[in-house]
Amino acid sequence: MTRERAGGMRIMKRRRVPLRTCIGCQEQKAKRELIRIVRTPQGEIEIDPTGKKAGRGTYICKKRSCLEAAMKGKRIERSLNHPVSPAVYEDLAAQLPDDADEE
Ligand SMILES: [Zn+2]
Repeated sequence: MTRERAGGMRIMKRRRVPLRTCIGCQEQKAKRELIRIVRTPQGEIEIDPTGKKAGRGTYICKKRSCLEAAMKGKRIERSLNHPVSPAVYEDLAAQLPDDADEE
């Protein structure tokens, strides 16, 4: 296990990190750094900590600023084409680490 964060070194050979775009800051990040939000086939919006739930997914950083941007712009709604209840935002806020507002 390496915890290095390939700063300028992207010569890692066989670790292809899947990238996803955060709906808050629009930056591409490694999937595992993001929270997945999924619209299930049943039409529910859920947070998907495993990243494996079926359905259409969208991603957001674990940052308050990104969550706020997503809320203000209704970006989860747009991305998933589905209304998002306040409970989902509350759950998202609960996922945020307290001390990781900025990296
Ligand atoms: Zn972000």
